[in-house]
Amino acid sequence: MMPPAIVILGAGALAAARNIQALYPDSRVHALQGRVEADVAYSELGAHLRDLYACGTPIVALCAAGIVIRCVAPLLSNKGAEPPVLAVAEDGSAVVPLLGGLAGVNVMAREIAAALCVSPAITTSGELRFGTCVLNPPEGYTLADLGQGKRFVSDLLAGESTRVEGEAPWLDDAQLPRSASARLAIRVTPRAWDGRVDELVIHPRSVVAAVTLGDLRESAGARVMSQLPAQAGAAVGKGANAHARAEEADIEAAASIEARVRACLDAHGLAVLSLAALLASTEDMTNAALAQAAARLNVPLRFAPMPADDNDNGASPAHLLQTALRVPYETLHDDRDEAVALALAPLAIDPGTIGRARGRLTVIGLGPGSAELMVPAARKALDEATDILGYDTYVKMAGPLRADQRVHGTDNREEMQRAHHAFELASAGRSVVMVSSGDPGVFAMAAAVLEALDTSGNSAWAAVELRIVPGVSAAMATAAQAGAPLGHDFCMLSLSDNLKPWSIIETRLRHAAQADLVMAFYNPVSRARPWQLDKALDIVREYRAANTPVVLGRDIGRPGGTLRTVTLGELRSADVDMRTMVIVGSSTTRQFTQGAQWVQWVYTPRWYR
Ligand code: SAH
Repeated sequence: MMPPAIVILGAGALAAARNIQALYPDSRVHALQGRVEADVAYSELGAHLRDLYACGTPIVALCAAGIVIRCVAPLLSNKGAEPPVLAVAEDGSAVVPLLGGLAGVNVMAREIAAALCVSPAITTSGELRFGTCVLNPPEGYTLADLGQGKRFVSDLLAGESTRVEGEAPWLDDAQLPRSASARLAIRVTPRAWDGRVDELVIHPRSVVAAVTLGDLRESAGARVMSQLPAQAGAAVGKGANAHARAEEADIEAAASIEARVRACLDAHGLAVLSLAALLASTEDMTNAALAQAAARLNVPLRFAPMPADDNDNGASPAHLLQTALRVPYETLHDDRDEAVALALAPLAIDPGTIGRARGRLTVIGLGPGSAELMVPAARKALDEATDILGYDTYVKMAGPLRADQRVHGTDNREEMQRAHHAFELASAGRSVVMVSSGDPGVFAMAAAVLEALDTSGNSAWAAVELRIVPGVSAAMATAAQAGAPLGHDFCMLSLSDNLKPWSIIETRLRHAAQADLVMAFYNPVSRARPWQLDKALDIVREYRAANTPVVLGRDIGRPGGTLRTVTLGELRSADVDMRTMVIVGSSTTRQFTQGAQWVQWVYTPRWYR
């Protein structure tokens, strides 16, 4: 289970919150900003609870039950997918499970109540009677039909007893009314439920479907994509069409793979919900149709190497099962389809033990610093990562991370080495996130990662699922605080001559100044580059008036961040350090102050007169 978010509104709840936190490794206490400090700060309770709920995070809120209910009420439509939500009195005197009966809310209520030495306010009849939620089987098992499950439990509550058929060790301690001759039966089986109302069917995820692509590989998108002209040029239109065709081909191929797997399961009377994973050959790792098919079947996609065979006769799905599975199983074929084979194991299988996953490398931007300015896709990538790489300061900014996540922090500024390391981890099947500050594509790691891939010629690296997630760059974050200095044409320049000759920087500065572009300077100075900023300002002053506004943002979005506006004439390099963003206005950039507080705004109008 995901660790819960323990949410408090004030200091009075902190002690009880920390007691609860001790029960759940990696859980964090979320506290209302400005009222009390804990592990994670939030600014508005309703929005925060809804965000947590929408992400499926279990919630323990130390406040009135009514407040919690009102906050999440707009989201309560899908009962099957709700996380546990509990209200706990801020002094720890009451524990009220509110939502998430099928996600173990009552189990949590019992655990928390025991820790706080009170009785949980459990209201679920089945739970009270049997001491467990029969409709909430453990990881690796799935209820065949929730509606039937509810009918079944109400029959039990009405006084009927039940048999248990199959392996259900989690029911051993339940106080179920058992009888070998009962009309009702709890059946743990991979076989599909036939609709009998006197059965509660629970499927163990004990089946693996292996597929070989054969003819499907030919029709799948990868092939069409590889035919796209390398230099798109005039063929952009044609390329776009080919791309659309490739996507259509993928969708068709995915539907076909899904249908063939379903047909094979059907032929053997097995339930789709018994499927633990889809298994394919490592050579098909980049095939988009396979990934879509696994998503449609709602199972992880795993890979195993296909044994080499000179005659190509060995390339069967049964061979894949042989290489990938470490548990005993029975192989099942579909006589009409050689491209699919099933492995049926006696117990649920952990998909993480089947072959290997396709590795993933996601290069993310954290934004300038505060969690609020990190895009949700970056947060999601961090949450899903097994390994996190980056410069120490940024890795700290990305936290807090879970204990099971491996951090490869480094002081090493050698970016290409870091990119190589990331590909090595990802090509071994890990889910790697590389962090940059701001936007990863602006003077940061994304270009280094792509350069490493481009120049490596390494096919294992090429099979990695690579994604770049944008972030709020320092220029944008600084501009927003100052007003809108980038409101018209602008450019971003790095003043560092570590990776380019100073002469290029000078030429660019002159051209940008002549073109009357607003300029955002990254890496304006450092101890190793003491004179460069003064030289750059001398050049700009040749073209721009001394009263041109200059915005200086230091540590924007981070603790102790400052924002100043000076004129180009006043600016001294001593006002600037390597944590500063310098935005030099154009001829039209202006500033004004307004209101009783004398708020100062800087903006560049969208027009020239
Ligand atoms: N990828 C980053 C930029 C990396 S270059 C981005 O998109 O923001 C590093 C430079 O960015 C620093 O020298 C500084 O000029 C600027 N910078 C990065 N974070 C900043 C922040 N929080 N406040 C002000 N400037 C920042």
